[in-house]
Amino acid sequence: MQAPAVGGIQAPRGNGKAVRLPQGASLTDFAEKIGANPAALVQIMLHLGEMVTATQSVNEETLKLLGAELDFDVQVVSPEDEDRELLESFDIEFGEDEGGEESLQVRPPVVTVMGHVDHGKTKLLDAIRNTNLVAGEAGGITQHIGAYQVATEVDGQERKITFIDTPGHEAFTAMRARGAETTDLVVLVVAADDGVKPQTTEAIDHATAAGVPIVVAVNKIDKEGADPAKVRAQLTEYGLVAEEFGGQTLFVDVSAKQGLHLEDLLEAIVLTADAELDLKANPDQPAQGVAIEAHLDRGRGSVATVLVQRGTLRVGDSIVCGGAYGRVRAMLDENFNPVEDAPPSRPVQVLGLTAVPGAGDNFLVVDDDRVARQIADRRAARKRNAELLKSPARRTLEDILKGEVQELLLIVKGDVSGSVEALEDSLLKIDVGDEVGLRVIRRGVGAITQDDVNLALTSEGTVIIGFNVRPERNAQELAEREGVDIRYYSVIYQAIEEVEAALKGMLKPEFEEAQLGTAEVREIFRVPRVGNIAGSMVLSGTINRNGKARLIRDGVVVADNLTVSSLRRFKDDATEVREGFECGIGVGYNDIKIGDVIETFEMREKLRD
Ligand code: GDP
Repeated sequence: MQAPAVGGIQAPRGNGKAVRLPQGASLTDFAEKIGANPAALVQIMLHLGEMVTATQSVNEETLKLLGAELDFDVQVVSPEDEDRELLESFDIEFGEDEGGEESLQVRPPVVTVMGHVDHGKTKLLDAIRNTNLVAGEAGGITQHIGAYQVATEVDGQERKITFIDTPGHEAFTAMRARGAETTDLVVLVVAADDGVKPQTTEAIDHATAAGVPIVVAVNKIDKEGADPAKVRAQLTEYGLVAEEFGGQTLFVDVSAKQGLHLEDLLEAIVLTADAELDLKANPDQPAQGVAIEAHLDRGRGSVATVLVQRGTLRVGDSIVCGGAYGRVRAMLDENFNPVEDAPPSRPVQVLGLTAVPGAGDNFLVVDDDRVARQIADRRAARKRNAELLKSPARRTLEDILKGEVQELLLIVKGDVSGSVEALEDSLLKIDVGDEVGLRVIRRGVGAITQDDVNLALTSEGTVIIGFNVRPERNAQELAEREGVDIRYYSVIYQAIEEVEAALKGMLKPEFEEAQLGTAEVREIFRVPRVGNIAGSMVLSGTINRNGKARLIRDGVVVADNLTVSSLRRFKDDATEVREGFECGIGVGYNDIKIGDVIETFEMREKLRD
């Protein structure tokens, strides 16, 4: 059925020729590649039942559909591939160590702490951080940079470990989703008084999917009711078998609160890394790595915590990080002390970038500022396209006309880019069916501004989410005046729950039919000015006046959408007649025959699960 769909619109045909398009390309991009008129492609899509504008980003499915129609072999290039190609065009290879085996040196493991909410991830990260601070530095540095490194002694040798300081699997999966494999090893925290819980098993799944070994920290052993043996027994079911049960997994009983056995945990991490991983990197090359979190500081500008994965990062280097670039003006460690160079696995705060990169963006050192700028500009342009693509599932013209697709628009603002992305990622995963979609129209780091509220005002019903941030005063006033809904959260789960509830609330109620009664027609009475009345016997249930009804003859519906307009027992009006009684029923329909069945029903709202 190809010819009629194109409907005589002029467009070149590809005869199977390949066309490469980036994710998030528009019909205009497509048209440019094949030398067609964008308007013609818009029309063809309309014929195919989809309404898209020429400049709108469309998804892969749409590009392929259009390609098939015009006989082009559309290949959609992933952002990772695209980025690799972009860097290759500058003669840069990302993600591989330069040189051979002999240039590699052992690097510390990078650890993420995961586990069920309230099992003590944050407390454990704080406890490890505080007990291992260099002497004299202690004294309540409460600010975190998103990652830190500690040292421990194993077999008489000093060994370092890097912890990602944003606990939870959201951050972990958000990073992975962006192709940033930052974690070498997962510490799974399980509270000894609570045992294995849903997010415990989720964490195991994520770690397993990433092929990352797990060390189990059985936490809160100081608490009454703590049962570390039970935790070990429970986890065997998930393939985590403790050494003492003949397995491979190291379990360490700890108390984050009392600081018990934290050194043992660090040792278990080092031993597991040594046994299962071969962590090496070349420290003598231009640095590459990944941004862990970033924010805008009033005084210092863009502040990004990056994890060096290979090479050594130095003050003065020209770097590009996602869509941001610049010269490293200064580097700070987790204690806010200046650092001159950062070798592999070292997290540092970098000052000097022109913009705030996203968590999970890769960074690399390049030869000069000009190259950094070119790469950053091209990435930024691509990111804008990709953001536009974050529209809901494809809609057909019909859906839009019938108003069947509803959309919740969100603006997400947060304190650090890591949390904004983790939150957005989780929100976009909420799925309550096809009728209702969710779209994040803006995301950003920092307070909620007047501009955010203005953007919310452009589309009715847009909700602003503040994650650990508050609105600026004029923004709050504007929001109150205009009735823009701003919600504040500091826990990702709460935000997810509420948004999910909101989405469910947007679902139109679904109705199902419930049969109320049936009656068999035994006689027909002709009543002047009223029409035919069916003298009937109620066979089941009840017949109600004003109820919905249909007429069935020999098992076939002959008339639907009827209403019981009159109901009588003998000469009297009745509101309801029950099974086993005779009555006269008028349904405003004259073609009634003896033996017909009148069925009454009502529509009840179906509960959604
Ligand atoms: P998260 O949600 O996994 O990050 O959990 P938190 O670190 O916020 O801890 C949740 C609660 O458990 C807090 O009230 C902590 O003080 C408490 N907690 C954490 N570790 C321990 C521990 O080892 N012993 C006791 N008694 N309480 C703990």
